[in-house]
Amino acid sequence: MTPFFKDLFAAFSSEFSFFVKMNEQVHEKLKVLAESAKYDISCASSGTTRKNKPGTIGSAEGWGICHSFTEDGRCVSLLKIMLTNYCIYDCAYCINRRSNDIKRATLTVNELVDLTIEFYRRNYIEGLFLSSGVINSPDYTMERMVRVVKDLRTVHRYNGYIHMKSIPGASSELVHEAGLYADRLSVNVEIPKETNLKMLAPEKDHQSVYKPMFYIQQGVLQNKEERMRFRHAPRFAPAGQSTQMIVGATDETDKDILQLSTALYQRPSMKRVYYSGYIPVNTYDPRLPALKQAPLVRENRLYQADWLMRFYEFKASEIVDDAFPNLDLEIDPKLAWALRHPEAFPVDVNKADYSMILRVPGIGVKSAKLIVASRRHGRITSSALKKIGVVMKKAQYFITCHELATFTVNEASPEYVRKVLTAVKKPAKKGFDERQLTIHFPD
Ligand code: SF4
Repeated sequence: MTPFFKDLFAAFSSEFSFFVKMNEQVHEKLKVLAESAKYDISCASSGTTRKNKPGTIGSAEGWGICHSFTEDGRCVSLLKIMLTNYCIYDCAYCINRRSNDIKRATLTVNELVDLTIEFYRRNYIEGLFLSSGVINSPDYTMERMVRVVKDLRTVHRYNGYIHMKSIPGASSELVHEAGLYADRLSVNVEIPKETNLKMLAPEKDHQSVYKPMFYIQQGVLQNKEERMRFRHAPRFAPAGQSTQMIVGATDETDKDILQLSTALYQRPSMKRVYYSGYIPVNTYDPRLPALKQAPLVRENRLYQADWLMRFYEFKASEIVDDAFPNLDLEIDPKLAWALRHPEAFPVDVNKADYSMILRVPGIGVKSAKLIVASRRHGRITSSALKKIGVVMKKAQYFITCHELATFTVNEASPEYVRKVLTAVKKPAKKGFDERQLTIHFPD
């Protein structure tokens, strides 16, 4: 047998033995638990830089982790799985709630560790997203989850990305131990107002969420100090923490949601707040709204608003206020703000501050930086703006530059500009809908 066929044969044998090893029972558990985990979207991975080292497998560096999303916007790049979908709690919005009659399963620590390693070796996954229902008690569950990540790191020398959910109500010791092995930890706020959380999840309260969040924050800050003194001190949750809020299951406005996000982002270790449009899984429960499908447009607008707060120097109070407590579903929040504030325009791209240029609809962070850098070398013209990447179709109503005809939002009117920018063009080809090209983040 030539060396090539020997290698090929070895590869097939290893695949075959893996599937034989993964007995039917584990396969069935995997199906049940991966299905149960799909409703948690707070699993995008980023911000960690641990490299592959000799004697380890995997790498959590940039290229090692990629994100992909299914059609409904859920992240699928990681092995996204629950340790168990049994749960002692009965949260109204959750498919895994105690009172639901669904298939249940629990993986042992070893089964979960083996699955992760085998999937990783075969390039099926780039990392692990581990969550769980609560069995016996928060600490009992958390202790098992910690054993999974600890075994992966210490026994199998697994160096890939791990995102682990911290169970609300878990002790500080277990949260701290989890942070030594996981890249990112997260605890879901789920429902922004505590009264609404109590109504839908009577066994939970905000304290049980904010406490572990605080433990994670403490761990991250302490670790920063330790690493300044000892360069080789073990890292604690290097990709920080994230959280998730369910949107549309209760009556919170976008203002309530974005105000809470602002407060959460002020915590030093908070990297991302995820917004999950409520998926009507338990339609029989009278405490829940009668939605036919998840409010995905609202979810998308919240992500855009979140983006404005993190990268465009907007405050939540500028995006939503008492007069406009909810985001406009028809247009992105940046355009909505500009149309509500025509007095702030037009912006002279040759003179205005960076922060004001950033507020022009159609100009993104990269374009704003390029504008400020290029105007040192001469006046900016409309053709230069196009080359820089400005979306002139939008921006033309909000800027002045050297030779651009003046027909700004003030000469026209906010209503006119809105009408022009929201007009749906006829499909270019049969079966092609231009609305599919909605830009996810505002520029
Ligand atoms: S604790 Fe988590 S898994 Fe259990 S019912 Fe509530 S949301 Fe679902």
